Amino acid sequence: LDMNAYRPGDGQSRPVERRLANLGAASVLFYRQPIEMVGAEGAWMIAKDGTRYLDFYNNVPSVGHSHPRVVEAVSRQIAQLNTNTRYIVSVVDDYLEALKALLPPELSNVMMTCSGSEANDLAIRVARAATGGTGIIVTETAYHGNTALVTEVSPSALKRGSLPETVIAIPPPGAAHFGEDIAGGFRASVEAALAEFGRRGIRPAAFLADSIFSSDGILADPPGFLAPVVEAVRAAGGLFIADEVQPGFGRTGDAFWGYERHGVTPDIVTMGKPMGNGFPMAAMVARPDHLEQFCADVGYFNTFGGNPVAAAAGHAVLDVIREEGLQENARETGAHLLAGLRQVAEGDARVTDVRGAGLFIGIDLAEETGRPDPAFTVQLIDAMRAHKVLIGAAGRYGATLKVRPPLCLTREEAERFVEAFRAALAG
Ligand code: PLP
Repeated sequence: LDMNAYRPGDGQSRPVERRLANLGAASVLFYRQPIEMVGAEGAWMIAKDGTRYLDFYNNVPSVGHSHPRVVEAVSRQIAQLNTNTRYIVSVVDDYLEALKALLPPELSNVMMTCSGSEANDLAIRVARAATGGTGIIVTETAYHGNTALVTEVSPSALKRGSLPETVIAIPPPGAAHFGEDIAGGFRASVEAALAEFGRRGIRPAAFLADSIFSSDGILADPPGFLAPVVEAVRAAGGLFIADEVQPGFGRTGDAFWGYERHGVTPDIVTMGKPMGNGFPMAAMVARPDHLEQFCADVGYFNTFGGNPVAAAAGHAVLDVIREEGLQENARETGAHLLAGLRQVAEGDARVTDVRGAGLFIGIDLAEETGRPDPAFTVQLIDAMRAHKVLIGAAGRYGATLKVRPPLCLTREEAERFVEAFRAALAG
């Protein structure tokens, strides 16, 4: 979905050539003229030429780049002990207890992985084993990861492929599809998908959704619209898998997990990205009764998943979010940012909508006719870079700016972003 992702033959330089040679021709780099980064702190990234960029497109270092608490915890633990997950290590158990305290009590089993893709892969397999069904409902522009199984439920990753019979992709819950009645329209789409599974003779296993629909364009409103959807899925025998890889860990400001905004308790939760502030770690959390069949059939082992160093990083992240009030900051600074961006939008017909929750905001960009404008979005992303701000795109047409800074963002930094946006629009 990075509309401005680097393509070979476009502004090549030696580091770029070396990178592509190392990673393979299929890999993409951010920006047509990629930036070589050498450091980062807080909400800032530092390029080799010394330029400091405000980082609005990187929700991995969510508590701030190279946060000293996380750096210290990881360094201490790796010096003391790191091992696979076959032993009892109190650092790991302490972390799992702290994580579970933030989740509904019935979700008492945590399976640690190294990526969000693996967590979603596991979630789909658990849901299928628990329900005896195979059908999965997702949204049309969803991205849930890159394993073979998860690619099948990630229409935006499939590119030229087609969905298997067991997967139905429905329109994302935005005004573009459902106008004023997002809740009613989305529910009707889910019910139609369930009916279609019935016609295909397929039993539903799960509705899998990122509760803020980030790759669909950050469709956060109205809070609560997922509750009747989850009810309908459960009535048909399926589970609700909440993919919290993007919205989780306080980003939406009004809740620690995105699903809480909808007043629902998921059957399975997956999480990743900000969990270790850059240390690769992720998890799938489920109910013991839902895990029974899966464990009886296949069992589970992950060499690196939840190792002591990951646990140390994860625990430091939870401590920092709490002690530095980062969820509250996401709510307050996010509201300030949203108000500033809406003010800019009022004076410019090319900005058709600004919406979001906490420090996760989508800005829709359109042509004069009102049609989504991906080319203008790419142009604006480049212009923002000239104003020392890094940002990317999302949404069905790639015409939504994805505003996603670290949760430690200050009011001043938020204002700086608004000014950069205003200046980029002015051209
Ligand atoms: N789920 C969502 C909502 C994502 O945005 C992503 C990655 O962008 C994933 C899952 C996959 O996570 P990972 O890249 O860690 O495998």
